Amino acid sequence: MTGQIIKALSGFYYVDAGKGQPVPCRGRGRLRHQKATPLVGDRVEISRLDDGTGMVEAILPRKNQFRRPMVANIDQMVIVASGAIPVTDPFLIDRMSAMAEWKGCEGLICFNKCDLERAEDLVSLYRGAGFPTLQVSAETGDGISDLAAAITGKVSAFTGNSGVGKSSILNALQPGFGLQVGEVSEKLGRGRHTTRHVELFPVAGGFVADTPGFSSFDVEQMEAIPKEALASAFREFAPYMDLCRFQGCAHVKEKGCAVREAVAEGKIALSRHKSYIRLYEQAREIPDWEISKN
Ligand code: GDP
Ligand code: ZN
Repeated sequence: MTGQIIKALSGFYYVDAGKGQPVPCRGRGRLRHQKATPLVGDRVEISRLDDGTGMVEAILPRKNQFRRPMVANIDQMVIVASGAIPVTDPFLIDRMSAMAEWKGCEGLICFNKCDLERAEDLVSLYRGAGFPTLQVSAETGDGISDLAAAITGKVSAFTGNSGVGKSSILNALQPGFGLQVGEVSEKLGRGRHTTRHVELFPVAGGFVADTPGFSSFDVEQMEAIPKEALASAFREFAPYMDLCRFQGCAHVKEKGCAVREAVAEGKIALSRHKSYIRLYEQAREIPDWEISKN
């Protein structure tokens, strides 16, 4: 049967097979010989043993993989932002959404603290760019059922600047979430491996990837997107990218750039293009060895 690894601890992979308790499994020696290390998030083929445990027989192909934390098959990144204090810098939203796009995750932008500030301008900016967006309040519960619906049946990772309300939202979605994660965190203690511990926690009929005790999915910790891949990570650039005068146009300051024309005509938001240039400049500074190891 097949399932998904939701946790790895003390030599066991805990596999959720869709019915009841996860099955503790050992890895087959031949996986090691194939240099295939199962990751949390991996979809795997398992066989059951009489004692209730199982064996991981094979790892199914991954749709994506993250290094920090080491996790596979994230379906969706929930980018939490806030128009109230601490106000989210749109550059951060652009960076996180580009990361989602590059990794092949759906990007859902979730504006929290709508009881204080509904962030209508940002909502229309990101809707205009083609992103699904939600306005929620962890405080009043407003919009939380829409977020729950967007999470059902998927593995999501929450990201966003500190203080936007990620923990509050997770607790609104799944009462006791913080307690559960806190207990895991306590059990792990302060060992060297704790920063690498990642688990998929059941939330609202789906799973949320979290590293107990640490802000999960901190984009700062992630590898940078190579500059060649960056324009494709800005989804609203797509209709224009192939219309530039020069092949290999970087869409930064080139003459005859169709992306820049679209910015000038107001079809692409200026702030989005500015973020693109900022990320492009950053990507130029990544040494080649950094890129090749990804
Ligand atoms: P995190 O750092 O992203 O996990 O943010 P927290 O969940 O710890 O929330 C930070 C602060 O914002 C806490 O004081 C929360 O009570 C508050 N907060 C979170 N969500 C909301 C909300 O929807 N409305 C209001 N008014 N405050 C909120
Ligand atoms: Zn161009």
